[in-house]
Amino acid sequence: MSRRRDGPVETPLLSVRDLRTRIRTDGGWLHAVDGVSFDVDRGETVCLVGESGSGKSVTCESLTGLVPQPPAEVSADAVEFDGESVIDRSATELRSIRGRRIAHVFQNPQSALDPVYAVGEQVTESIRIHEDVSRSAARGRAVDLLRRVGIPRARERLDSYPHEFSGGMQQRLAIAVALAGDPDLLIADEPTTAVDVTVQARLLDLFRSIVGDGTSILLVTHDLRVVAAVADRVLVMYGGTIVERGPVEAVFGEPSHPYTQALFDSYGETDGPSIDERTARGEIPADGCRFRAECPHAIDECAGGAQPPFHRVSGAAAHAASCVHYGADGDPSPIRENATSPMDSRAERESEGEIAESSSTATPNAEGEPR
Ligand code: SF4
Repeated sequence: MSRRRDGPVETPLLSVRDLRTRIRTDGGWLHAVDGVSFDVDRGETVCLVGESGSGKSVTCESLTGLVPQPPAEVSADAVEFDGESVIDRSATELRSIRGRRIAHVFQNPQSALDPVYAVGEQVTESIRIHEDVSRSAARGRAVDLLRRVGIPRARERLDSYPHEFSGGMQQRLAIAVALAGDPDLLIADEPTTAVDVTVQARLLDLFRSIVGDGTSILLVTHDLRVVAAVADRVLVMYGGTIVERGPVEAVFGEPSHPYTQALFDSYGETDGPSIDERTARGEIPADGCRFRAECPHAIDECAGGAQPPFHRVSGAAAHAASCVHYGADGDPSPIRENATSPMDSRAERESEGEIAESSSTATPNAEGEPR
């Protein structure tokens, strides 16, 4: 896990202010991202956490023009990458930034791999798109990249096709393609969801090594064990907005927003309606605190107007929650009583047989080796 560098404060690599993405649907406008602001520093891993439908993926895709407009509309007060505004760039300019300086990795590696070309050709091509090097030099670099992401017998595997690799290896190949342009920022959207626990551990090692080499990572996940393993900072999303943010130790040690507490308490459970279903049922309020309909601590002040402002919630710098009870006139003590670590909560539920035992105890299989 990397940490922010000591010394003078640097300009963040990525700075996002009041990002909004609304999508036209048959039922009207869906406010998928609703006033999101955050930074990613150089060499830092920031995790966007929340349930499916909370706006994590749309947030990431809105940053580099991956959300089709129309039917979506994307706006922001600012989206700056390495000190330059990218929100007002043309689609062509964004395409040039995407892949070269900002690379995406998705849950489904097939989306990044062309089934009709050998993997070496695909990685080599990605290198040559971003850099003026000869084919043989690019091929040498491709071997290095495949080794870096942990593909055994990298040189001979260059001539294999994607279908000749297991799911875990395909995800590594997709990461190799993403790293081919030597990006400053890797945006990874649920990259470990479709792989087993052994491959997941290897991918997390890979992410730590990428960050160790100076690349920043914006990681979307609903898996709190992944967050605990790699995050420097955590942003908790609900209803298209960030409701709690802070260093991972602070958010995990003292979860302070009622939604974060509910998310951590229910970690490992799969029943109950998703945010998508709740949105469709009109259960997520369009104004005031988005979590109001489900919050056990809601009071009159939670209704109307904008999402409550952020208030500092612990001794950790930058640990803040968007909840009225942490304001000057609030009383957060009933909320604080509910603060339990997600890992403690899950372990307790496992020991009581309420949920299946953690997959971290599963017997490793051969996933991750080439077929
Ligand atoms: S602002 Fe109100 S509804 Fe929202 S989390 Fe705080 S107490 Fe609950």
